[in-house]
Amino acid sequence: MTVSEGWQRLEPKLNAIRTRLSALEYEPDRRHSFLPFTHEQDSPYVDFEGSRYLMMSGYSYLGLAGDPRVKAAAKAAVDQYGTGAHGVRALAGSLPLHEELETAVARTMGREAAMVFGSGYAANVGTVGALVGPGDTVLIDKLDHASIVDGCQLSGATVTRFRHNDPEHLDRRLADAKGTGLKLVIVDSVYSMDGDVAPLPELRAVCDAHGALLMVDEAHALGVIGATGRGIEEHFGGRALVDVKLGTLSKAVPATGGWVAGPQALIDHLRFNARPFLFSAALAPAQAGAALETLRILDAEPHRVTHIQRESARLRETLNKAGIDTGTSETAVIPIIAGSDEKAYDLATACRKAGVIGLPVVSPAVPNTQARLRIAVTARHSAQDLDVAAAGFLEAAHAVDLIPSLP
Ligand code: PMP
Repeated sequence: MTVSEGWQRLEPKLNAIRTRLSALEYEPDRRHSFLPFTHEQDSPYVDFEGSRYLMMSGYSYLGLAGDPRVKAAAKAAVDQYGTGAHGVRALAGSLPLHEELETAVARTMGREAAMVFGSGYAANVGTVGALVGPGDTVLIDKLDHASIVDGCQLSGATVTRFRHNDPEHLDRRLADAKGTGLKLVIVDSVYSMDGDVAPLPELRAVCDAHGALLMVDEAHALGVIGATGRGIEEHFGGRALVDVKLGTLSKAVPATGGWVAGPQALIDHLRFNARPFLFSAALAPAQAGAALETLRILDAEPHRVTHIQRESARLRETLNKAGIDTGTSETAVIPIIAGSDEKAYDLATACRKAGVIGLPVVSPAVPNTQARLRIAVTARHSAQDLDVAAAGFLEAAHAVDLIPSLP
């Protein structure tokens, strides 16, 4: 085969996404992916093509993305350590700052030890791959994040899915699991597209009954649930219910990176066996510095967490009262269910016209009938900002006939 024949073979694949996007995003107004927003510093507003919008689809839950203290910590880390981390951690890439950050993560998550990865995605793929392999069984919730799914597939373990947030179904799946290998159950604490919370005490009881380990991805829980934002164990009363805890440094913590926390022996094992840790460069100093400062702020300013919890409940209530379906959300992540991919795009366009950014999530990420805007409340949104957002969502929902009338 010649190189040009190779390109010809690729053509149908390349065209498929173009055709799909041009069907959904056929006018500039209906383009919603990859838009280059300029985020105003220390504000929930963004600038896009000369206009100003209230951003309601960001992930910076604690509202610290433009915080002067976090920026100063990132700059100080660059001044002290430079821009890169000199390669992989096992060779020249370990900095005192990484160790300080790992100590802080372990303390924040109430565990003996922790380690940080280049991303949350790498943390999941690396951890699952280092814990299970052929002969073992991993049981994952149907809505677990893609990085968990990818880690399972790469691991070579038998992968079984159970119905979303359904401990009884997990129980049956565990009973069916064959062999003497390790059984590992993995769930998200807070589901990223629905904003519902895993029923942790029930899942723990099922795992105990079958001798299975329980791993939890706290990506959307750190800084968001639990009285002081410590995540799902604190949300359910503070008992240690999880064997392996994992999360990102890219959401409530406004940096990039991922982390795993657990017993020292687990972390020692992962340091020598998690491939995305062993074979990929260490977290850059600016990221580690920003993350460390954020954990300090999380300790010192618990009102940020209270604000997120109170205001997301209030926004959800306003939307529900007006007839908007927010699914099973009980956290800062609030879906506005539109009912079809086209409707979700129309709704996002109408929101933008109303001055609010609510980005669409469509199939295959969610079933077409469940296409939605995925919005999130952060500590940077004041109560007034959220009133503006609610008015924008209602106006947009009315404009696309999602709700019959405005309240
Ligand atoms: N886990 C969950 C539940 C996530 O939502 C995400 C990111 N969307 C990740 C892991 C991956 O994190 P990161 O973006 O830091 O790679």
